[in-house]
Amino acid sequence: MFKKIKSLFSVPTNKPDLALSQLLALSKQIPLLYFLLISNTAFVAYTHFAFAPLFLTVYMPTAFSSICIVRLVSWWKMRHATPSADKAAQRLRSTVYISAGFGLLMSAWGLTIFPYGGPEEKAHVAFFMAITTIACIFCLTHLRAAALALALVTVIPFAIHFALLGSTVMTAVAINMVLVSSVMIYTLSIHFGEFNTMVEQKVNLEKTYIESVRLSNENHKFANLDSLTGMPNRRRFFAELGAAISGAERNKKALAVGLIDLDGFKAVNDLYGHSIGDALLVEASKRMQTHKNWSVFMARLGGDEFGFILQCDHHAQSAIKFGRELCEILRLQYVLGDFSADVSASCGVAMFPDNGKTAEKLLEYADYALYQAKAEATGGTVVFTPKHHEQLRFVHQINQALRNADLVKELSLDFQPIIDKAKGKIVSFEALARWNSPIVGQVPPATFIVTAERSNLIDKLTYVLFDKFLSHLAEWPEHITASFNLSARNLASPETALHILAAVQKSGIAPKRIVFEVTETAVMADFDRALKTLTLLRNLGASIALDDFGTGYSSLGYVHRLPLDKIKIDREFILEIHQSEKAKNIVRTVVDMCRNLGVPCIAEGVETEAQAQAVQGIGCTLMQGYFFGRPVPACEIGKLFELEFVTKRQKNRLRIA
Ligand code: C2E
Ligand code: CA
Ligand code: CA
Repeated sequence: MFKKIKSLFSVPTNKPDLALSQLLALSKQIPLLYFLLISNTAFVAYTHFAFAPLFLTVYMPTAFSSICIVRLVSWWKMRHATPSADKAAQRLRSTVYISAGFGLLMSAWGLTIFPYGGPEEKAHVAFFMAITTIACIFCLTHLRAAALALALVTVIPFAIHFALLGSTVMTAVAINMVLVSSVMIYTLSIHFGEFNTMVEQKVNLEKTYIESVRLSNENHKFANLDSLTGMPNRRRFFAELGAAISGAERNKKALAVGLIDLDGFKAVNDLYGHSIGDALLVEASKRMQTHKNWSVFMARLGGDEFGFILQCDHHAQSAIKFGRELCEILRLQYVLGDFSADVSASCGVAMFPDNGKTAEKLLEYADYALYQAKAEATGGTVVFTPKHHEQLRFVHQINQALRNADLVKELSLDFQPIIDKAKGKIVSFEALARWNSPIVGQVPPATFIVTAERSNLIDKLTYVLFDKFLSHLAEWPEHITASFNLSARNLASPETALHILAAVQKSGIAPKRIVFEVTETAVMADFDRALKTLTLLRNLGASIALDDFGTGYSSLGYVHRLPLDKIKIDREFILEIHQSEKAKNIVRTVVDMCRNLGVPCIAEGVETEAQAQAVQGIGCTLMQGYFFGRPVPACEIGKLFELEFVTKRQKNRLRIA
């Protein structure tokens, strides 16, 4: 009970926001309170001047009003102050005491001056006390403790005094005063409670708002940053590119938009695991950001692809210099814990405004330049040129023609024999796609396969080719095998694998008659998926040959992990074999490796007798190349089964296996 009463007169210390809000509200109301006190006191002093001693009508009111003025000014100044929560609570506490003090002074003065004067003057004092007390309670609404203290020290003494006078009117005034004050204190308590809740809600709302602003800032940051490397991400890159183009257009400046791709990163990722791959990307991004001498914006666009926007002059020279420097630092060896890895980087650049004026065009051209950089030389920088523009136009044309092509009618397969030189017989055939377009004419497979891959038409194309492949096989004797080439996209698509599976089963052809050829680069594009597809095909009963061996990553690590039945040595190494010791040694190493792995190897691109003999001398007897037979339409292969196949140049009698 005592605690409850005490709490009514105290200022809570644990509600800093409430204290500050109370102070703010009071600073607007308390000056009015003092104004009323001064004026009401002056009026009573004036009406009593003729009856009461000077001490009560002049000196005391003057002293009282002076203190009121000092307080009024101090509260007036508080209106725009921002005190600490502690200071605010302190001020509120002192206000409670001061209110009680003023109340006491007012009561003492009122009671002392009351006996002087006639009935009207007495009524004036009673009215003064009642109305001033009510006004003060009203002005102190936001500090319940002060209002309560002031009410107690004024109402109680006066009520007792009036009640003891023995006058019915005065007793009624006393009762009136007590009732009105009680009701006022009660409503004040309700208001104060509501004020308290309102402040709490306001504080909570502010907190929620601040939190939501923080979260939104954080979201914005994460939406624009790559979480692994901390570099700006793809989204930010596009925003920056748009702004950079507008700026360059306005200021008639040039820009270089570059794309960088790490060559060999996928191999590191697949062989050593994703955490090592991640560490490599983090290190690469750090290296890129050490480029302080250039006015450049760099971002990670995804995977091992990065982009830059370089402010430069209209000549591509500085962009080439920048690209080369970047590729050079990216090529330095990466030491990642217990591992060390070597990767290189290629860079493709398109210039604004010379090459293109929109973000889409610049990125398309930079991407084409990057593709050229990868094809021409690893670790190089290629700037988009009018020659590339011409090529790209051709690619677009091919793309368009391919989209509108009647694939079943326009596509066909040629077959090239694979021979066993020691036995002098054909052991298999390789199916090679041909496209005869009524619009663009004969297009080499190396061109249209890439185009189909890039434009997502490869699956459709593969299905048509594979159906034709199966129908040719169905016409040939059952002991004849043939190989079919699969591209990187085919390997990465489980759908294609399932389609192939279903087609083989439907055709009734024994899967052991089919060899799927896959290149190292295609396998490494997505090793895990490729492994799944190859395992599926092999489980079906088909064989797998690793094509163009030696041109990709040539890492024993993954050759071991692949379900391989054959390895085809790329023709690049066969070309010089009869005249270069180095080429011969390379082929010998591969042949030895195949022997150790227990996998037969086939030498591709054998064009001359000298090459054939050099290959055979190393111990590789399986060969393929123009020397033995060019790729020919399937109908011509059919004839071979009736006639014996004889190489035109060597007159060696080759029998079909
Ligand atoms: P590849 O799989 O390495 O096919 C062998 C390529 O070398 C063929 O070129 C063939 O005509 C050529 N070739 C054969 N013997 C010799 C030779 O003695 N000297 C020289 N210089 N070349 C020789 P083609 O038919 O132009 O095919 C090029 C590439 O296109 C193929 O290389 C293969 O990667 C791809 N390709 C062909 N058909 C298909 C297909 O049906 N599907 C997929 N995904 N790719 C295919
Ligand atoms: Ca092949
Ligand atoms: Ca090949």
